[in-house]
Amino acid sequence: MQQPINHRIVLGVDFGATKIQVGAITCSGKILAAKKFPTCRNSQKESVASLQNAISSFLKEWDGPPPDAIGIGLVGDIDWINGIWVYSMNAKISEPVPIVSILEKQFSLPVFIDNDVNCATIAENYFGIGRISKHFVLINVGTGIACGIVDNGRLVRGVSNSAGELGHNCVETNGDLCSCGYFGCLESIVGGAALIRSAVTMLPSYPESSLNTPYEEGNLHSNAIFEAARSGDQLAMAIARRATKALGIGVVNLANLLNPEYIVFAGSVMRNEWFLDQVRKFVYDNTMVMTLNYIEGITTSFTNVGDVGTYGAGCLCIGADGLPRKKALSV
Ligand SMILES: [Zn+2]
Repeated sequence: MQQPINHRIVLGVDFGATKIQVGAITCSGKILAAKKFPTCRNSQKESVASLQNAISSFLKEWDGPPPDAIGIGLVGDIDWINGIWVYSMNAKISEPVPIVSILEKQFSLPVFIDNDVNCATIAENYFGIGRISKHFVLINVGTGIACGIVDNGRLVRGVSNSAGELGHNCVETNGDLCSCGYFGCLESIVGGAALIRSAVTMLPSYPESSLNTPYEEGNLHSNAIFEAARSGDQLAMAIARRATKALGIGVVNLANLLNPEYIVFAGSVMRNEWFLDQVRKFVYDNTMVMTLNYIEGITTSFTNVGDVGTYGAGCLCIGADGLPRKKALSV
């Protein structure tokens, strides 16, 4: 269903591992301006300060209509109802931070927060595949892997807002140690960092591999690995085969469990069309027929990789009526 078109502005703030992207977004889904600011996350204090600095710097430069609200996608454990950034390993948040209250006092605007993958899923529900389907999963494969689940039009959160940790499903018995402390997790095989780690570890055994060049030039990333696999490079093919099987098993399990109508991929690793095709084929070949019969598509997100978090954070501010949400400020 098309959302009502209007020109009210909200801010979407995507707190990522290396940068904070702030965007001014219309409630009809157009990013009017976006800018990246550095993330300093050596300590809890620096993470919070860099978030504050990014928003205030953007607002100083922004010369369009004043925003009605600020939405922020954060990494880690987020208490979205009470506005608390509870914990994050990546952002060094070790003590709960009342981030909504802090920012509402500073900017005198309503502030809404959520986990970054939930934000991306809300954006997909609002502006993307959600316009034609009420049952889908959004699987983000970047440095880490997580998914958002939409069932009957609503985001599934679980008891503590942690539903969708697909990256920590075990897909290889006797697999590698994962950052979560367990073994054989999907993320430890197909996450962007894991793919590069596999290539670097195996390169000495493949001196003829074409991946030696991007490695020496500092350009070894998932896309280079998949393109080399597509060209028949033996090392790259071995990594891609393992990654296809691991992600394929994860997605098949998810599909059989949740019976989605669409499976939507986002994240830097899924930008490679060839790899997406390999995974798509695995899923079509291995999913139970009565689940498969209802899958209308395995596709990619409507946003480009860099903007999905900003869109999603902005969507936190938009109500069911298509207008900026209102709430009493915590001042
Ligand atoms: Zn894990």
